[in-house]
Amino acid sequence: MPWPGPPLSQDICPVNKTIEWGCLGFQYMDTDCHVRYVWRNGAWDAGEVVREPYLRIHIAATALHYGQTAFEGLKVFRCRDGKVRAFRPRENARRMARTSERICMAPLPEELFMEAVARVVKANPGYVPPYGTGGSLYVRPLLFGSGARIGVQPADEYVFLVLVVPVGAYYKGGLSPVSAVVMDEYDRAAPRGVGSVKVGGNYAAGLRPHEEAHKQGFPIELYLDAREHRYVDEFGTSNFIAITRDGKYVTPKSESILPSVTNLTLQQIARDMGMPVEIRPVEFDEIAGFAEVGACGTAVVITPVNEIIRGPTTIRVGPRNGCGPVLQSLYSRVQAIQYGEAPDPHGWTVEIPE
Ligand SMILES: *Cc1c(COP(=O)(O)O)cnc(C)c1O
Repeated sequence: MPWPGPPLSQDICPVNKTIEWGCLGFQYMDTDCHVRYVWRNGAWDAGEVVREPYLRIHIAATALHYGQTAFEGLKVFRCRDGKVRAFRPRENARRMARTSERICMAPLPEELFMEAVARVVKANPGYVPPYGTGGSLYVRPLLFGSGARIGVQPADEYVFLVLVVPVGAYYKGGLSPVSAVVMDEYDRAAPRGVGSVKVGGNYAAGLRPHEEAHKQGFPIELYLDAREHRYVDEFGTSNFIAITRDGKYVTPKSESILPSVTNLTLQQIARDMGMPVEIRPVEFDEIAGFAEVGACGTAVVITPVNEIIRGPTTIRVGPRNGCGPVLQSLYSRVQAIQYGEAPDPHGWTVEIPE
């Protein structure tokens, strides 16, 4: 199906003047274009900028039949100095390369990932929310097997594409806490399975439990270790972090959780603030003793969690309304670095020249 608008002669699209930046949430919208690369005969092509948000895909593509598909998520910000910067994109590049390797997809060079991110952002200049609106450009890389197979085996052709979506400030009136429910009827990932990589199938598997949690009135669900249901793994799509009463930053060590870039960032900021950081098995029964609990991930940075419900038991943590002081200050420091309001001593931001 043809996509409206003139064909692109170069990687530049017209500036968008119609988005109401203050009304943006975290919802898909079409932008001007995405970038797309194909791996064939053992090599990646030069890639292209594509206007249509559709692709032609073989009916026997391994992504469709056998779940050979991986994704990433990162953000690009319009900073106070007017420049556009991506936040820690190399971490996402490395994670996608690891994911790709785990499910036998084409090797994805870090430099190709970096080029694709810069290219799609430059080609959609009107979609980076202005500084001060609290918004950002969410970047979604996707890699999947497009080659035809009928027996279960890796594809001989892959597509790597990157699309962008402008997103708004998640919290318009300050960080507001949520209640989480413990999933005792479901597991997210098995110990030696694929929980530690960002493969599409993990998220299909989480949809049903997420819907059930939602129906019970809980916006997020907490998964325990699949072997014993004794230790905390993570929330459905975000890592578990906690602040102890004596001011330590604690986050679970487990082979089945997805290593969150946001969590790594918060750990470093906590150390910079002089807090001890513990990455260790966290027993479910410890939660009641924590001062603050949060869920962390790129989309929201930190969601404070003030109640965790398991069967008939309710555990309360942190202030009843609002966010605890330590998570609040970690959140503010991350945002200040992302928007270029504070120094970036660890070199996390990467400028994308316009
Ligand atoms: C993507 C993801 C996260 C968050 O990772 P970030 O790199 O911080 O965005 C956490 N848990 C799961 C299961 C995820 O898929």
